[in-house]
Amino acid sequence: MEHLLTADQPLSAYDLLSRLRPGDPPAPPSVYRNLGFLLEHGLIHRLETTRAYIACRHPVHSHSAQFLICRRCGSVVEASDDHITASVGALGQHLGFALELCAVELRGVCARCQSQHRCEQRHQGGDQAFTQSA
Ligand SMILES: [Zn+2]
Ligand SMILES: [Zn+2]
Repeated sequence: MEHLLTADQPLSAYDLLSRLRPGDPPAPPSVYRNLGFLLEHGLIHRLETTRAYIACRHPVHSHSAQFLICRRCGSVVEASDDHITASVGALGQHLGFALELCAVELRGVCARCQSQHRCEQRHQGGDQAFTQSA
């Protein structure tokens, strides 16, 4: 499990299996049990949009986190914005909804990929969508 906890990139359960037991026949039930344990204790998060797992960057927070997922390189930034957390809670209350999963997943392009793209642009010339979002 320390493989996931030290990884920069989110990992799928399948990636995790192959890292845990290189060469060995995988034992999915035990991996899923371990993932369940880590999730329950707030050590990892499951990203619903990419079906990947990522180590929690702030083990003490209340797990209403925001994830900024780069669609180019797949890196994930975990944020814990109190205002967003409060808004999500208030929204649930307002609509009489008992919230169980309060994570917010946001997709876009990370700073590193944006600067790479700007370099490419000089050679290729132009992509409006990117310059606007930056
Ligand atoms: Zn977290
Ligand atoms: Zn990126």
